[in-house]
Amino acid sequence: MPSFVTHLEAAIDGTRLAHDQLQTTHQGRPLWVRYDLDAVAAAVTPADVAARPPTLWRYRELLPVERDDNVVTLGEGMSPLLPCPRLGAALGLERLWIKDESQLPTGSFKSRGLCMAVSRAKELGARRLAIPTAGNAGGALAAYAARAGLASFVFMPADTPVVNRIEAALYGAKVFLIDGLITDCGQVVQRGTEPMGWFDVSTLKEPYRIEGKKTMGLELAEQLGWRLPDAIFYPTGGGTGLIGMWKAFAELGHLGWIDAQRPRMFACQSDGCAPIVRAFEAGARFAEPFPDPHTAASGLRVPKAVGDFMILDAVRESGGRALAAPEASLLDWTRRACALEGVALCPEAAACVAALADAVASGEITADAEVVVFNTGAAQKYVEALDVPLPRLGKDDDIDWASLAD
Ligand SMILES: *Cc1c(COP(=O)(O)O)cnc(C)c1O
Repeated sequence: MPSFVTHLEAAIDGTRLAHDQLQTTHQGRPLWVRYDLDAVAAAVTPADVAARPPTLWRYRELLPVERDDNVVTLGEGMSPLLPCPRLGAALGLERLWIKDESQLPTGSFKSRGLCMAVSRAKELGARRLAIPTAGNAGGALAAYAARAGLASFVFMPADTPVVNRIEAALYGAKVFLIDGLITDCGQVVQRGTEPMGWFDVSTLKEPYRIEGKKTMGLELAEQLGWRLPDAIFYPTGGGTGLIGMWKAFAELGHLGWIDAQRPRMFACQSDGCAPIVRAFEAGARFAEPFPDPHTAASGLRVPKAVGDFMILDAVRESGGRALAAPEASLLDWTRRACALEGVALCPEAAACVAALADAVASGEITADAEVVVFNTGAAQKYVEALDVPLPRLGKDDDIDWASLAD
């Protein structure tokens, strides 16, 4: 099945670019993928989609891959939308959902963006893919590159969580640790692109990761019966997911599959790295680099996002806000949410829960609002941050049973 893509469009000034060749950015800023949505509306209905297998490829007409045999997949997508009444009650909310992305291949939603980027890179002839990563993107690239039979090169800060380091190497990537931040890793990739013949699949430096991540918005709408919640709390690093979902809602609106109601979008960060929050509060369209960023939520350790204006535009259009959660509260909220709901909530999503707690307390979010939090990754990937000392029992000890319950 051919795609319905018509062209690529520069987000900064609307310049049209061809979609039948590898593209990166325009004036250093990201590209949108545009479709013939009238033709999509004529070709497929929600009932057709409902009859397809439960992966993100069920939205094939809204995705950019031209030929089915170029689809690189590990069965990603259709993550569960879980009602969370106990966590909701703890926050003072009657209708709280978690969209649980921890169950996707490689344990994070990065698989959505990278299955799409790798499929298109393969389709357009790239053979060696390189990426700077704060953690989860490196593992996802490595897995999909392996699946596609392509070479991958992964650059991560030396203090990236150990599971991220191991998984990328395990999937056969060449992995390098850099003494610096993700932005420094990005510089190395940029410098190496020409001499090494790499295609750079950095966040928003190629057009297709957004298309993969927009499927979170498509799934959410379908799972709610083709309607949307009142508010979405999304942990924002590079912002691809938030930007992608906002695009998904616009496309679904054009198709007539949803009405005009849109959720308020809340971009959540840690106060240890909150460039988007600062820009939002300053009323700026672009964000300044955040100095000396530090957070246990490694996916949020992005001091400068190339798509900053796209995030801020979406948040403002939606009537939402950018919110900073106290860094000191993230691991507590991680543990609380995991224990209350049995969901492997990552520290990034805990930033959403912490910000949501404040928003409920201040009255910005009312008790009857329907709220969706995105759990973008699996708690298990953060073993160093979440390790806990456990009591030891000798196998032959006399055990004081009553004391075990304390
Ligand atoms: C990458 C990442 C994020 C940030 O995602 P963006 O869409 O780039 O803002 C959030 N959470 C986790 C677990 C991540 O790996």
